[in-house]
Amino acid sequence: MTGLCSLTFKEAIGIAKKDGVQPILDAFQKRAQALNPKINAFLRFSKTASAHAAGALGGVPISIKDNICIDGAEVTCASKILAKHVPPYDATVITKLKNAGATLFGQCNMDEFAFGSSCETSAFGPCRNPWDLERVPGGSSGGSAASVAADMTLAALGSDTGGSIRQPAALCSVVGVKPTYGRVSRYGLIAFGSSFDQIGPLTKTVEDAAILMNILCGHDPKDSTSSPEKVPDFTQALTRNVKGLKIGLPKEYFIEGIDPEIEKSVRQAAEVYQKLGAEIKTISLPHTEYSVAVYYVVAVAEASSNLGRFDGVEYGLRAPAKDLREMYFETRDRGFGHEAKRRVLLGTFVLSAGYYEAYYLKGQKVRTLIRQDFEKAFKEVDVILSPTSPTAAFKIGEKAADPIAMYLSDIFTIPANLAGIPAMSVPCGFTSGGLPIGMQLMARPFDESTMLRAAHAFEQETGVYKKKPTLN
Ligand code: GLN
Repeated sequence: MTGLCSLTFKEAIGIAKKDGVQPILDAFQKRAQALNPKINAFLRFSKTASAHAAGALGGVPISIKDNICIDGAEVTCASKILAKHVPPYDATVITKLKNAGATLFGQCNMDEFAFGSSCETSAFGPCRNPWDLERVPGGSSGGSAASVAADMTLAALGSDTGGSIRQPAALCSVVGVKPTYGRVSRYGLIAFGSSFDQIGPLTKTVEDAAILMNILCGHDPKDSTSSPEKVPDFTQALTRNVKGLKIGLPKEYFIEGIDPEIEKSVRQAAEVYQKLGAEIKTISLPHTEYSVAVYYVVAVAEASSNLGRFDGVEYGLRAPAKDLREMYFETRDRGFGHEAKRRVLLGTFVLSAGYYEAYYLKGQKVRTLIRQDFEKAFKEVDVILSPTSPTAAFKIGEKAADPIAMYLSDIFTIPANLAGIPAMSVPCGFTSGGLPIGMQLMARPFDESTMLRAAHAFEQETGVYKKKPTLN
């Protein structure tokens, strides 16, 4: 029954409604459990996965990044400090998926607390890239991306603070969407950088992503940052018509250091758009070079403040100790991994009296300049096209000892989080070594429809998404 596993989300929903969902669930359970020891995409499978074909989604399986709370299920953020923590409520996106009739299939591996671009900081072992098991799947939503790419699930949820949906999508050849900041409720998402975090889908096709966006988006009174903006039917946008669409290529995104095969592939994608009747323009986003530095000031500040709640009192791990102070120290020392400690230290430093103005405040000011770059650019163009990641999937261990090299993996994805705009990654080709390449599309705030339309037109024209890893 592995044929069922290569279905798209949309196709599977159709079949589940006609013939029942149980054969589909059985097929995925078999395949995912067989592959997981090799790939480590799942930290655990759902104990309650049962077929309930009612609802728009027909009971088909979807997997969830392990930083989104599901009532009664352990959630760890791939950290030892949260081990055995069981939230007593559903995140809003989970409620929405349940109401739509999805089967929550399993919880996906990730970088610890979503700190990373490779899934190597997981306390439960790295996740591997289905296209080459010696390589990383990207991060931090690496387990979500790998599970979709390896046909271990039909679709997944991830979260994106600086690229964590888009970069693993690119490295695994799946579609990954970061919605506009405020589009999707973060109630029940364990926070990393609260002014950046967004939940979004990872899927096999753009249409599958649009179907999930219809379910996930919308105002939530439980999240004060969620937007009242009206949610259109995103599937209606998928017309395949990009005639007259203005697409910008930012010159600052085609720089030294980017793999020439990736640059070539994205430039070829621009030619495809031109052939389809879109207008390609070179644009400038002049403050791009400051993005990574600004992000690693502001995001670590927010992270250190968000992680303050993990002290051994209310959640997960508690180290035995002789007094309260020692308990705090011991719990955090044992519970947090290396990268989490680094971020808490950096964040605490940039927020400390005397440095706050020099770092955090200045970072926020440059963030405004970066947002204004996009506002200006979107007066000239409707969509911005760039690479998603400067390199294809790198080897496990290759960048683990060099945090700066790792941080630079996010150079093209971070600006959209700083500006709050929607952005996505779409498979656009392969390197000569057979590794996936993704291209990034960005759009005006709340204009996911135009972004998805552009992505879908390219995907249907080229069919890049049809190629699958062999997993021999
Ligand atoms: N890789 C980036 C970081 O390490 C982004 C992570 C994310 O989007 N969660 O912070």
